[in-house]
Order: sequence, then C-alpha cells, then structure tokens
Amino acid sequence: MTLTHFLDGLRCACCGALNMLWLDPVRGLVECHECGQIALTLPDTGKEDS
Ligand SMILES: [Zn+2]
Repeated sequence: MTLTHFLDGLRCACCGALNMLWLDPVRGLVECHECGQIALTLPDTGKEDS
C-alpha cells in the first residue's frame, strides 16, 4: 500500500493531462505529476470530515 492513490480517469485542470493526478489523503490534496500543479479540491470519495 502507498500513501498516495492514483486517480484513474481524472484530468488535470491546469495542464489537461489525463491519469497524471495523485491523491494524497494525508495532506488532503491532489498533485499533478505532469505539471506539478497541486489542488486542494478532493474528488468525490464520499468521505466528509469537518
Ligand atoms: Zn497538470
């Protein structure tokens, strides 16, 4: 197991690269390995922590 999860089928909103996004659940962010863009918006995982 790894701490980061490969996000299949998602596209980077910055550079448009497909399947290059990784979810870091520890830090609660998504990083694009193509352009290095980091987004705080989580995909719909159904998990809600306040
Ligand atoms: Zn990108």
